[in-house]
Formats: sequence, structure tokens, C-alpha cells
Amino acid sequence: MAPHEATHFLEIQGSKGMIRIPKVIYQRMIDHAQREHPHECCGFLGGKDGTVSKSFEIRNLEESSVQFSMDPQEELSALEEMGNSSAELIAIYHSHPHTIPFPSEKDVQKVFDPEMPSIIISLKEKGKPVVKAFRIDKEAIYLEEIELI
Ligand SMILES: [Zn+2]
Repeated sequence: MAPHEATHFLEIQGSKGMIRIPKVIYQRMIDHAQREHPHECCGFLGGKDGTVSKSFEIRNLEESSVQFSMDPQEELSALEEMGNSSAELIAIYHSHPHTIPFPSEKDVQKVFDPEMPSIIISLKEKGKPVVKAFRIDKEAIYLEEIELI
């Protein structure tokens, strides 16, 4: 599970921060990934001050096992719902049905905010989902700790 297994030029440059996720929401993300398998799933985690209070499943328009594009309509209504409950976007998650939990080159290319944590749920090992969080910069990748609450 080392980063060098990825076909990638970037390596982890240390740790940036911490995201707190309730166990039930953590499990819901894994369920989502397994339900969409062999396609990538994607979604948002909303909350406050680094603590997640709600997950939002968003349709992957690509229906692909190597990339995702969020349905802009669903993206918008999730952000609206967060706004209405004075929550904010804390992290973006997606799954890797066949590869390790490490950002792919596509993931790096399409990052729009290097401070926004990306969570990757890997289903590469059958029956053993692995969840990791990162902050992705164009030149570096930082690990984000996950604390289950
Ligand atoms: Zn990815």
C-alpha cells in the first residue's frame, strides 16, 4: 500500500490537518463506494470546524471506474442544503474501485483548492476497504488525518 505503487510522480509530503468523521457517516461513504462498484462514486462531506455532520452522495456522470465528474445539479443542491444549515463543505470524497487510496494524476490535475481535503475510498483489496484523506497541491500531496468519532 506504499505510495510508490501508484503510477505517480508525487509523494506524500507530511501531514496537514485532521478531519473528524462520525463512524456512521464513514460507513455510509464505504457503502456508497461498494454500491457504485465497479464505477467510482463521489460525494461531499459537510460540517463545521473540521467535524463532519452530513454526507451527500452525488452522481458520477462519467460512470467510469477511473474517474468521476459530479452532476452539477446535485452538487449545487448539496451546497445549498449545507448553506441552509450553516454547514460548509469540509471534504470531497470519491472511490477507487481497482486502485490504491492515493490521488491519481487526474485527481491532481483537477484539484481546484489545495486546502480542500480529498477522501479516497479504495476497494482494491476485496472485502477490505481502505479510506485515506489528502490535501492535493499541484506540486505536493499532504496526508490529512482522519479521526473517527
Ligand atoms: Zn481518484
